[in-house]
Amino acid sequence: PYNGPSADEVFAKRKKFLGPSLFHYYQKPLNIVEGKMQYLYDESGRRYLDAFAGIVTVSCGHCHPDVLNAITEQNKLLQHATTIYLHHAIADFAEALASKMPGNLKVVYFVNSGSEANELAMMMARLYTGNLGMISLRNAYHGGSSATIGLTALNTWKYPIPEGEIHHVMNPDPYRGVFGADANSYAKDVQDHIDYGTTGNVAGFIAETIQGVGGAVELAPGYLKLVYDIVRKACGVCIADEVQTGFGRTGNHYWGFETQGVIPDIVTMAKGIGNGLPLGAVVTTPEIASVMTRKIQFNTFGGNPVCSAGGLAVLRVLDKEKRQAHCADVGSHLLERLRLLKERHDIIGNVRGRGLMVGIELVTDRKEKTPAKAETAVLFEKLRELGILVGKGGLHGNVFRIKPPMCFTKDDADFLVDALDYAISRL
Ligand code: PMP
Repeated sequence: PYNGPSADEVFAKRKKFLGPSLFHYYQKPLNIVEGKMQYLYDESGRRYLDAFAGIVTVSCGHCHPDVLNAITEQNKLLQHATTIYLHHAIADFAEALASKMPGNLKVVYFVNSGSEANELAMMMARLYTGNLGMISLRNAYHGGSSATIGLTALNTWKYPIPEGEIHHVMNPDPYRGVFGADANSYAKDVQDHIDYGTTGNVAGFIAETIQGVGGAVELAPGYLKLVYDIVRKACGVCIADEVQTGFGRTGNHYWGFETQGVIPDIVTMAKGIGNGLPLGAVVTTPEIASVMTRKIQFNTFGGNPVCSAGGLAVLRVLDKEKRQAHCADVGSHLLERLRLLKERHDIIGNVRGRGLMVGIELVTDRKEKTPAKAETAVLFEKLRELGILVGKGGLHGNVFRIKPPMCFTKDDADFLVDALDYAISRL
């Protein structure tokens, strides 16, 4: 049993000593003290089904024994020395990660977070092309650091600071976008930005392959193929942000970009790569990587032995437990059940996603697509009362994000859908 400080005590201390900008879920924030696979436990020992995985981060499952064992054994031997010395763990992990990548994406850089990965990718794009302009999608989230905040395009996350040359193009959102699922029209907007808003050349284009923070928004089919061609003709490189979509989560594919049939020039990763360890990576081609040799490129904790041992264990667990196929299987069951639920509840405006990366958008009016902000907040609390933790997203906070640890089962999915059905019926 837990005998640490209570939720009230932790909350009071956090308010006193941590930044006032921290936000929390739920009116009465949860004090989570333990995690096991797809379950989280609060201070009273109450169990919750975790359908948000620490913001799409816990890939294998909370405290997965194989990952735990790998980091514990490495912790006992050596925690840190940096890449000024040799260590097998970083090399083994890089080799395993490169083996998962298509094409010529074979050079790996390790960092500590998604923001850092995207910063490095953006720097590489600018150095490699000699151009400054970056293109990202409206409704994107690529980080909160001072450089990546420019790529992010959700006003709720942006501070007024200099951003450099960044063009936010129309979001190819099949549900809310003005062109529906017509990828050609959205791609033309990218060409227009290049033609009218730049010298004609850009450094690069970055997109999540399914938008996460923006509310599990899939890109119109065929969009990335069209845009990658346009961007490459303008001398830019194409970056896929796989921070949320990678490692088999989308089910039919290991990487989200594969769902659009493209091969990026740079891929960024974080979150699920470490199952909770602070870890990120950038993978690119030898040609692009060569620009980083002009100066010293170094990261103190990047490729740290403990994180590398843990990251390698994550890759092995996902393969051994066939998690990609599992995500496809459980995800299609979940989506099917949610689509049936949508037929019975008008408040569900849209059900979307792939594998275990699912969004449920709630609206008060299906025709106007008016965000059901207040209702989403009520249902969110109700789901917690019923023992289920989901994520909330979208600019208006009216999208439930279901992105659980990948060990989530069909029974878990059924429990979630039944609970949502019950809660909506009693709104
Ligand atoms: N890219 C995407 C798609 C993300 O969802 C996030 C985090 N929500 C980031 C980048 C930034 O990652 P981090 O918080 O680790 O810096």
